Amino acid sequence: MSDDYKNFRENGKKIIAVCRNYNGLTAAQGIQNPEKPILFIKPTTAYISEGQKIKVPLGSKLLYHEVELGIVIRKRCSNISPPEADDYIGGFLLALDMTAKDFHIEAKEKSRPWSLCKGFDTSCPVSSFIDKDTIPNYSDIRLWLKVDGVMMQDSSTSDMIFSVPEVISYITKYFTLEAGDVILTGTPAGSGPVRGGQIIECGLGDVMSMTFSVIDAN
Ligand code: MG
Repeated sequence: MSDDYKNFRENGKKIIAVCRNYNGLTAAQGIQNPEKPILFIKPTTAYISEGQKIKVPLGSKLLYHEVELGIVIRKRCSNISPPEADDYIGGFLLALDMTAKDFHIEAKEKSRPWSLCKGFDTSCPVSSFIDKDTIPNYSDIRLWLKVDGVMMQDSSTSDMIFSVPEVISYITKYFTLEAGDVILTGTPAGSGPVRGGQIIECGLGDVMSMTFSVIDAN
């Protein structure tokens, strides 16, 4: 079996993300839990790695951080059941689903798509690939994020509304997943704004942490 999936940035073709997938987040926002996963797609050109900077997109005045567990797909799959999903997980990553919140609010108000508010360049900072065996407890691992040293998000993947196998199964009813494709599984409560000059630090248990700075050329 090829290990190409481990180089997800080069070999993956898409990033499929789930939103409103944490009980703590829907409770904090006073919204009902969704009846099924809500999906959107980010382009792979949105990836950046540590050392690169998160750029506030042109014209945005409100950029939000969302720390998320990412799943790297090991091999092609379509229409699989939740019990089958584990076999298609190649590994994990720590990710940020950066969101231009002002664009997002406008899109929701006007029933427009989310491509811009979620898919702009630098909107998907990611860690290096994490081997699957490193986190057998991926369904109950701490996920945290600090802005300039202040804890803003601190939760566990156990708070997900739809589990990782359920999310993978649901996605594959509509999209064929291929080796290196990445699934972002949603952010816990505490998402909030970051400004140019601020530093985001986030982590996944004691397995992985990463740091990104934000620049604003607006
Ligand atoms: Mg998100």
